[in-house]
Amino acid sequence: MSIVAIVGRPNVGKSTLFNRLIERREAIVDSVSGVTRDRHYGKSDWNGKEFSVIDTGGYVVGSDDVFETEIDNQVKLAIEEADAIIFMVEVESGITGMDVEVAKLLRRSKKPIFLAVNKVDSAARTNDAVEFYNLGFEKYYNLSSINGSGTGDLLDDLVKAL
Ligand code: GDP
Ligand code: MG
Repeated sequence: MSIVAIVGRPNVGKSTLFNRLIERREAIVDSVSGVTRDRHYGKSDWNGKEFSVIDTGGYVVGSDDVFETEIDNQVKLAIEEADAIIFMVEVESGITGMDVEVAKLLRRSKKPIFLAVNKVDSAARTNDAVEFYNLGFEKYYNLSSINGSGTGDLLDDLVKAL
């Protein structure tokens, strides 16, 4: 079965999307940084295609160094084991330095990458999302993982790549 990994810095909404995709609450959703979280695996399907989803997380927040190394490791692992990657960022904070670092790693991989701009909860926020073109991917998907909007468009294209 194909594997889809969700990567990105903490608090962008990866686990919220994961929970929505697998329609069961398995991952720990936690808005507090500094918590050690494991990787979670679940099963999903869209348009008749089944796939496994990995919610990456296991970040150990100690020093900034450890933090960035952990994210790097998660991204590298995802590049190795996934058939497609959802790279999640969020519109409230805009592009951060960590987003730029993750983007650099992902652009070097040959796996299909789907840039998902989360927390686009209102029409006004779709304008703010435009800045994410600067991360250097061809297109991006506006998402609100909390209310589910935009996930259909993302999944339509995602399953075609599997
Ligand atoms: P993760 O660290 O990337 O797994 O992020 P989480 O899924 O734990 O979410 C971090 C915080 O963002 C939580 O408080 C979520 O409720 C919130 N969140 C997730 N998705 C959305 C969204 O689409 N809109 C808004 N406004 N908040 C969201
Ligand atoms: Mg999480």
